[in-house]
Amino acid sequence: MLDLADILAARRTISGTVARTPLVPSLHMGSVAGQDFLLKLENTQPIGAFKLRGAVNAVFNLGDGARGVTCCSTGNHGRGVAYAARARGIPAVICMSSLVPQTKVDGIRALGADVRITGRSQDDALAESLRLCEAEGLTEISPFDDPYVIAGQGTIGLELFEDRPDLDTILVPLSGGGLAGGVARAAKAIKPDVKVIGVSMDRGAAMHASLLAGHPVEVEEVASLADSLGGGIGLENRLSFALCRDYLDDVVLVTEEEIYRAMQTLYYEDRIVAEGACVVGIAAMQSGKLPKPKGPVATIITGRNVDMEVFTQVVTGRDVTLGDLTIKGRRYGA
Ligand SMILES: *Cc1c(COP(=O)(O)O)cnc(C)c1O
Repeated sequence: MLDLADILAARRTISGTVARTPLVPSLHMGSVAGQDFLLKLENTQPIGAFKLRGAVNAVFNLGDGARGVTCCSTGNHGRGVAYAARARGIPAVICMSSLVPQTKVDGIRALGADVRITGRSQDDALAESLRLCEAEGLTEISPFDDPYVIAGQGTIGLELFEDRPDLDTILVPLSGGGLAGGVARAAKAIKPDVKVIGVSMDRGAAMHASLLAGHPVEVEEVASLADSLGGGIGLENRLSFALCRDYLDDVVLVTEEEIYRAMQTLYYEDRIVAEGACVVGIAAMQSGKLPKPKGPVATIITGRNVDMEVFTQVVTGRDVTLGDLTIKGRRYGA
């Protein structure tokens, strides 16, 4: 289905376009874990998130006749596809609904992509993206259910073991499972007894619900501090569900309060500005939801593209309201 050779090939394809990111110790989290605790800094990628790895591998593997690429993500995948297409010298059309905030539109345009605004929902944007595939011969790039995307994300697993061959546990933020599936596949091929644990928020965790059900299921999408972890895994999921089922040791869920605290921890202890999605590993460790590790632990700081208004509220200990959700403020250390 996807093996180490695919991930090694991805590494050759993306080197030069994607950063080889640092793995740095967090002294504070090390004292919480009772073992070295390492942060894989994917927030230092050129687009501020790991999604560049999978997007570059997918776009660079398109045949010579490729006319261009499209997707309907307004988040990190959209940024990744835009950047990858520019690096390869082909057009990218990112489809969005008219409800998407102007800053996101501007961010993706700044990466050289054509932004097409249609309709008033994500479904309308997806329909336009699929229409462009038919009408203009563009290729749609899935954010997580594509073999090249998953192999690209899996290159993080290779780098982790190059830097720390003695890793005992890897904590991976989990949404559609392209990242967790790819990293777990690489990690288990290199060190079969390493533990790879997916972490999601406890509201609207589609992969967790699907693994429990034994097949892909839909969950209601709700607001979360970890907004990059929202969305479904697709009822027709081809790859990422089976990879997560076969290669993850466990999936742990964290609350919004735990994510809030973990954003503060990463900011005050390690001085890192990060999205809620990428602190879920820290949240799981801090809240005592993980078994005591027997050796070094790594987590992936997946991205920095946080709404700065929300981030400021969190680090100054104010209440945060997102949709129907209000998280009670609390100052760090209080
Ligand atoms: C996409 C994303 C994830 C989750 O990746 P999946 O492959 O969908 O599981 C985690 N963190 C950030 C910042 C992301 O953009």
